[in-house]
Amino acid sequence: MKNSLQRFLMWFACLLGAAGGMVLLAAPFYSAVQTDLTAQAREETVVSNGVAHYLSEIARKSVAQTVWDDAVAHLDVKFDPEWAHQHIGIYFAQTEGLDAALVLDRDDAPVYAMRAGRAEDPGAARTLAEASAALVRAVRAEEERRGPLREALLRGDTRMRPVLASHVATLDGEPYAIAASLVQPAFGAVMPATSRSAIVVTAKRLDGDFVRALSEKFLLADAELVQGLADAPQGRARALLRHDRQSVSATLLWTPAKPGAEFLNKTLPPTLMLLGSLAGLAAILYRRGKLATQNLISSEARASHLAYHDTLTGLPNRAMLSENLARSIAELQRDGRPFAVLCVDLDHFKEVNDAFGHLAGDELIRAVARCIQTACRDSDLVARLGGDEFAIIQAGAGADCAGALAGRIVSVLSQPIELQVGRVFIGASIGVTLVAEGDDTPQECLRRADLALYRAKAGGRGRFVFFEEEMDATVKTRAALQSDLREALARGELELHYQPQLDGRNEIVGLEALVRWNHKTRGSVSPSAFVPIAEETGLIEALGMFTLRRAFEDSKNFPGVKIAVNVSAAQLRRKDFADQLQALVEECAVSPENFELEITEGLLLGDDPHTHEALQRLRSLGFTIALDDFGTGYSSLSYLQRYPIDKIKIDRSFIARLGAEPRADAVVTAMVRLARALGLSVIAEGVETEAQRLSLTVAGCPDVQGFLTGRPMRAEAAAVLLAEAEAPLRATG
Ligand code: C2E
Ligand code: MG
Ligand code: MG
Repeated sequence: MKNSLQRFLMWFACLLGAAGGMVLLAAPFYSAVQTDLTAQAREETVVSNGVAHYLSEIARKSVAQTVWDDAVAHLDVKFDPEWAHQHIGIYFAQTEGLDAALVLDRDDAPVYAMRAGRAEDPGAARTLAEASAALVRAVRAEEERRGPLREALLRGDTRMRPVLASHVATLDGEPYAIAASLVQPAFGAVMPATSRSAIVVTAKRLDGDFVRALSEKFLLADAELVQGLADAPQGRARALLRHDRQSVSATLLWTPAKPGAEFLNKTLPPTLMLLGSLAGLAAILYRRGKLATQNLISSEARASHLAYHDTLTGLPNRAMLSENLARSIAELQRDGRPFAVLCVDLDHFKEVNDAFGHLAGDELIRAVARCIQTACRDSDLVARLGGDEFAIIQAGAGADCAGALAGRIVSVLSQPIELQVGRVFIGASIGVTLVAEGDDTPQECLRRADLALYRAKAGGRGRFVFFEEEMDATVKTRAALQSDLREALARGELELHYQPQLDGRNEIVGLEALVRWNHKTRGSVSPSAFVPIAEETGLIEALGMFTLRRAFEDSKNFPGVKIAVNVSAAQLRRKDFADQLQALVEECAVSPENFELEITEGLLLGDDPHTHEALQRLRSLGFTIALDDFGTGYSSLSYLQRYPIDKIKIDRSFIARLGAEPRADAVVTAMVRLARALGLSVIAEGVETEAQRLSLTVAGCPDVQGFLTGRPMRAEAAAVLLAEAEAPLRATG
């Protein structure tokens, strides 16, 4: 719609531009043509008048010889042929350049004729007499109107007014200017014999000389005289040489001046150049505009693609997933089509990312995206939610279908993936929720799939779990626990218990501080339950500082033994943790050498320089570092070598297997040897039986901790235990 309007406007503008250009071009042409037409009409009038004037001048040439007393005496009173030849024939031919002359007596009978300067038989000059008959009649009529000469002279004219008539007529097939003039006295010295006088007729051929003379006088180009009435051809002007009112004897043709065309010729090239430049400019502006519009459209498209897609994999992102979820819910409400939502999380992505770097991490995410897409149908929507999390909307899926897809993805992602850095194993956990009721929101669908995913992870990873209502209850319990823990911390309801660590001689060499929470309604809550919550919610800082402070204070009642304090990875990641600890050491006035910080293996992964530095600083303050739960994480030999660690604590799961599984002893022995080889101390935790202790002694690990050495106990009880252990020594010492 928007596009077609744009196209219409563009074409409209083009049309308008073209029409404007045409008008700009046509206007000068039109005005030039009009100017030329007007100029021609004016020129024709001027030339026509000029020609008429020129002809009357020719006619008037005879007046000099006819209005003359001598002429009256020799042509009228008594005709003198010799005088006529001298003063009419010769004079007109030689002086005035006329071609023929004829003298008519008072009865209009020809008495003298001249042609081309020679006298000829007056009777033979019939053609001239015929051609001038009308003129003669006109002269006679005028003569009659004038009345008797004497009266005319008495009216006071000093010189007689000539009686003259002229026209253009064809003579022997050629145009002639013919004039008839009445013979009259100039001053009345000689008077005609009767009331009718003689008439002199003259003829001048309108030949090349005549045309040349006109051309020079009126600046005519290519002038020519044609017989009769002629139409002016295209681009020519004409002036008519009339015989009388009705008929035309000749037409003068010439090429008129064309001021309009000349003006156009001069102004057209610059106008065209200007128009061309304007058109060029318009074209450039149009192209620029079009390019800018196209860029805008493509950047808009890019922006909208970016807004709805993940840049790394090109998959739809969370925003698009939400929109599609809303659409699926609307479809479910309309036609009852159920669907499933799957949340996929990679199990060991962080390890790969930490170990091989971000480029490998990106490559892995792209490979996983391809695997998931391959496992899905085209009608399913696969989105990346961020990090190593993906989500799928499986259209039209029931439990079987969703289970099959989840199983497929778990299975395909349990296979090794080839990256440039080598082969990696990642595995995936999936939470699935079925949506068959139309009253859910997209957020609710995702929350349920996420809860199920959490369960899948907690249940050992590499599996898929369907959402069940009971999970909500667990979450609620967690949420309640979280707010209770916050209060408990504030009210000081937490306390520390201590578990002894014995060496091979059964002497207490250390105490591990273990936090305890006696909940007012739930009873004793295990730190395994609330420490992870504290870590997730940030409460771990307060909890950690509480533990450290209490351990520092309690340590004053435990002289000579090392206190082991568990430190969470979240605490250690704080940049100022070492500073906090140093400040606390000073505040509590204790010696760091008396404390051991227990960290877990996970912290060492990623080879983070900050962790490295933090551990170095803690060690330089005097603390020793123990690696807790050794054997359950993923730390490699290289980490153990590189990190500043003093001791490993073999995890209780290995100890529990001693005596129960055939290779358990060998595994523990290997761990002990590894520790020794790296110059680290070693202790076993979770030692419950003498048999286990014996196996450990054999394996080379005499230091133990566990129920065998004593259950975690209150600080007072631990102090008493220590005092009792000291007493026999004092007694013997
Ligand atoms: P951990 O550091 O490995 O602590 C040893 C755990 O094993 C303690 O459980 C202890 O009660 C239990 N235990 C000791 N001897 C035996 C035995 O012979 N058999 C068996 N089956 N268990 C034994 P607890 O106190 O529930 O602590 C669990 C975990 O909570 C600890 O594991 C530690 O990771 C964490 N934790 C405890 N206190 C703190 C604390 O103050 N701060 C932090 N960050 N974490 C703590
Ligand atoms: Mg511990
Ligand atoms: Mg442990």
